[in-house]
Amino acid sequence: MDIHEYQAKELLRQFNVATPDGRVAGDAAEARSITQEYGGRSVVKAQIHAGGRGKGGGVKFAKTPDESAQLFEKMRGMTLVTKQTGPEGRVVRTVFIARPVDIAKELYLSILVDRISGRVAFLASSEGGVEIEEVAAKTPEKIVKVVVDPCVGLAGYQARELAGALGLTGDALKQSGAFLRNLYRLFLEKDCSMVEINPLVVTVQGELTALDAKIAFDDNALFRHPEIMAYRDLSEEAPAETEASSFGLNFIKLDGSIGCMVNGAGLAMATMDIIQHHGSSPANFLDVGGGASEEAVNNAFRIILQDPGVKAVLVNIFGGIMRCDIVARGIIKASRENGVTVPVVVRLEGTNVEEGKRILAESGLKILVGANLDDAARKVVASIQ
Ligand code: GDP
Ligand code: MG
Repeated sequence: MDIHEYQAKELLRQFNVATPDGRVAGDAAEARSITQEYGGRSVVKAQIHAGGRGKGGGVKFAKTPDESAQLFEKMRGMTLVTKQTGPEGRVVRTVFIARPVDIAKELYLSILVDRISGRVAFLASSEGGVEIEEVAAKTPEKIVKVVVDPCVGLAGYQARELAGALGLTGDALKQSGAFLRNLYRLFLEKDCSMVEINPLVVTVQGELTALDAKIAFDDNALFRHPEIMAYRDLSEEAPAETEASSFGLNFIKLDGSIGCMVNGAGLAMATMDIIQHHGSSPANFLDVGGGASEEAVNNAFRIILQDPGVKAVLVNIFGGIMRCDIVARGIIKASRENGVTVPVVVRLEGTNVEEGKRILAESGLKILVGANLDDAARKVVASIQ
């Protein structure tokens, strides 16, 4: 789960990690009064769950309280397009007003779960503010990785190594030990999957502060963090994904044209690969899980059909615990209730497969049955060409 910058900064403050003052403004008048409080200048920042806001026009500088009110009016409700939002952009519903900082240097710092070592690791670079992916591609030697031993925590020498990689000196260097340790404590205590501070800045006054903050949490641990769940912003999530999760289904939106209903993540991967192999690409995939009911299949099918990108549907189910006759009934029910207008190809295998196929054949609906996975993938790709 992702949260907004203003929420991430609330957490930073709770853990004594330095970050500039800032508050969400409810209206233009409040933007004006916060800016007044900050000495007449402020940074007006669009809150969306995507980075690259600066370049897209979602981070603006107000030199007077009135200007902050005008920027607020312009920003709220606008559709912000950044490198990370895709061409459709995101509607800005929340605007954050921050106390401006005089920047001497922009740096990069993040904490994540490192798959190679299977441990929590820090990434640090003196090249901050820009896209870190670019730094990683062009000058990977400028990113330093420090892997933390879970039994020891962030050791003093590791904090010094990170400070060295960031090029810190003077007061900023002195502040960095506590800054890094507190950030690590936040990562562990809140079960984060990623904390990214880009940019981490050294101010003209020599202070270290988190100018931007992006935090993602491990969904499997959310049950023990109601305070984090309260940060959830459903308007930032794909509505179909939210609806699917409310039925215990796993839906992932992609950008191709074939909707995929599968059971099991492995089969989902294989299904997407074979669709690509035959020359098309998946619009989404929905994993109905191991022992889904007729009703779950019905919901799953409806969610897939709601996706405007779907030009055809491929159902690929292996009935182990799941029975093929139940899947067939679910598909028929969903097709009748939703008035399917796109081609549907079904590949069933496993328990009660003959009955499943018979039910589909006798339904009177135009559903194509694949002899096997390859045949089904071929048929569904051909159906939209
Ligand atoms: P992002 O583009 O979504 O990552 O948004 P950021 O919060 O990182 O802001 C983008 C850029 O705006 C930063 O890299 C800074 O260069 C600049 N910026 C943001 N806040 C301030 C500020 O208080 N003072 C100055 N001088 N620049 C700022
Ligand atoms: Mg940033």
